[in-house]
Amino acid sequence: MSSMTAVEAAQARGWRHVYFNALTLPFWGVHILAIVGIAITGFSWLGLALTAALYAPRMFFVTGAYHRYFSHRSYKTSRWFQFLLALGATFTAQKGPLWWAAHHRVHHKLSDMPGDLHSVKQSGFWWSHMGWILARDLEGTDMSRIKDFSKYPELRWLDRFWMVPPVAAGVIAFLIGGFFGLVWAFAVPQVLCWHGTFTINSLSHLWGGRRFATEDDSRNNLVLALITMGEGWHNNHHHYQVAARQGFFWWEIDCTYYVLRAFAAVGLVWDLHGIPDHIKAKALPEEAAEPPVADVA
Ligand SMILES: [Zn+2]
Ligand SMILES: [Zn+2]
Repeated sequence: MSSMTAVEAAQARGWRHVYFNALTLPFWGVHILAIVGIAITGFSWLGLALTAALYAPRMFFVTGAYHRYFSHRSYKTSRWFQFLLALGATFTAQKGPLWWAAHHRVHHKLSDMPGDLHSVKQSGFWWSHMGWILARDLEGTDMSRIKDFSKYPELRWLDRFWMVPPVAAGVIAFLIGGFFGLVWAFAVPQVLCWHGTFTINSLSHLWGGRRFATEDDSRNNLVLALITMGEGWHNNHHHYQVAARQGFFWWEIDCTYYVLRAFAAVGLVWDLHGIPDHIKAKALPEEAAEPPVADVA
């Protein structure tokens, strides 16, 4: 095996190969649909309300399901609700639950080191933002990283046919609301959810403060936390990954956690992993928590 990482090998094939291949056509198609659609239908308050109403659940499923449940197992749930979480998350068109979680686990294992699949520090902004998810070279799933969930046939099925729910979402939006529905209830919230999610891979290793001296460049950022329903407390998260909440203090707004608390209150999920006091006690003044400079690049 060569010493090239999978990321370097993919990048070596050139940006055209990364960003423009058969699988990225729907991705760009939805972008064009959103932009052209807004230009044709004009701005609409109803459209904006529909977009907001359909953005929030998408983002919750990315963070509450793909990230905090499937990647980090930060709480427990039943098998049927586990399936609903995975199904909801596939509507966001970010590939299947096994693919997403297996790749995310690599990010934590090698954060900002060679081999990290989406490191700004290693591979630049656009690669970490979306190149890595569009590149066909990273399409396979290393099942050994996700044995805890790949044993469920229904999840393997969803992982394989992940494109069915987002396509269905577009069709339903069109059948109910025509072209207007397709644009505002599908394309616009979908594009916003993609880039909202992607900010965590790109911006949240660049922009914000640090509380914990983690080995990587992760940051805490209120703006990103609002956009992503709590994921912007990314330095907290890198410091203690298994917590169900990423806002460690009451003033760190974490909407995903509030939804999980509501689910727990009615018994849909349980055993939300908390944050021990000794973990919080490692907080440092911001200057002291600066990342190690250029030692691995
Ligand atoms: Zn990270
Ligand atoms: Zn994580």
